[in-house]
Amino acid sequence: MILPRLHELAAITAEDGRLTRLFMTPEQKRASALVAGWMAQAGMAVRVDAIGNVVGRLDGQGPALMLGSHLDTVRNAGRYDGMLGVVTAIACVERMVKAGTRPRFPVEVVGFSEEEGVRFGAALLGSRAVAGTFDPAVLDRVDADGVTMREAIGRFGLDPAMIGTAARRREEIAAYLELHIEQGPVLEAAGLPVGCVSAISGAGRFEVVVQGAAGHAGTVPMGQRRDALAAAAESVLAVERRCGAEAGLVGTVGRLEVADGATNVIPGRVRFTMDIRAPEDAQRARAEADILAAIAAVAHARGVQALVERIYDMAAAPCAPWLMRQIERSIAAAGVAALRLPSGAGHDGLAMRAVADIGMIFVRCAGGVSHHPSESITEADAETGARVLQHFIENFEVGA
Ligand SMILES: [Zn+2]
Repeated sequence: MILPRLHELAAITAEDGRLTRLFMTPEQKRASALVAGWMAQAGMAVRVDAIGNVVGRLDGQGPALMLGSHLDTVRNAGRYDGMLGVVTAIACVERMVKAGTRPRFPVEVVGFSEEEGVRFGAALLGSRAVAGTFDPAVLDRVDADGVTMREAIGRFGLDPAMIGTAARRREEIAAYLELHIEQGPVLEAAGLPVGCVSAISGAGRFEVVVQGAAGHAGTVPMGQRRDALAAAAESVLAVERRCGAEAGLVGTVGRLEVADGATNVIPGRVRFTMDIRAPEDAQRARAEADILAAIAAVAHARGVQALVERIYDMAAAPCAPWLMRQIERSIAAAGVAALRLPSGAGHDGLAMRAVADIGMIFVRCAGGVSHHPSESITEADAETGARVLQHFIENFEVGA
């Protein structure tokens, strides 16, 4: 029931032959209606909140266990990123209701309307609204067609002035739990279908400009050069070396531009980016300091200037230890060795931790591929994920 529903959802797209489903579009409306129907069929009361999240609730006493993930996609996306967590949670609720094992506490399933940030360049809009941290300033952002977010929300049939009503109070939510594909190769390499996430890694991004001296490739002797690209290359390797020295830490130089690059010119100016992530903020801070020192040393030794600017800083979101313990018990109950791994990718939990303790279950995906049509998981792994999630719900104890 899980994979067929994911295939049904994947058919709702703005582009023929490839899956693209963006925020506040007719496709969102159709996907939301399909999901709402499944929620109702599972026995839940369903509503769409002021930011377009579809929320199903199986009523009960006390604060709710909130399960969820997102229903929007990147362009030319896979069909599991986000949707798997929503569809699996609904399946678990339906099975518990049928089997007569529904819990006494309320269970909510949320299909977040926006997580990827594709249309307006602002991510986590659905979960930020639920967490009460939605920044109204983003309503003035425009998409590629010049439509403001405010206009788009209005055309969708919602009132941007009402977004505050989507916010939930901490007392209403016992915990937020998300099942998601790993989007990386760690579980596959370990031979495990599921894993317990320890934290959503924080990230720092930098832009570096290396200023050397351009010159003639034929006339300037090697010992008299101030080659900006050679200095940048040494810096790139310093990032790789430092981040490779510790588990959990990752660092990437994803863009590098040589100004006025030519075959016969010594590079005078190079610009590159660095993306550094770690599950613990202190670990990332140490690595960033070391890398900046290494770049300064390279620049000094080569007689070039390196100007470093931080352009992004997002703190890590640790998963709650009490939720990790319960997730690991549920993984063990499925006969799987419980592996803890950080999430290098961002998720709705980043926003939800402002209003609730968070936990995450990862499901293995083929080759670690994600944000691509070839994203895939096996039916057996989807079923193992569902068994783990259902066991977790059925045995959930607040704070235990
Ligand atoms: Zn996702």
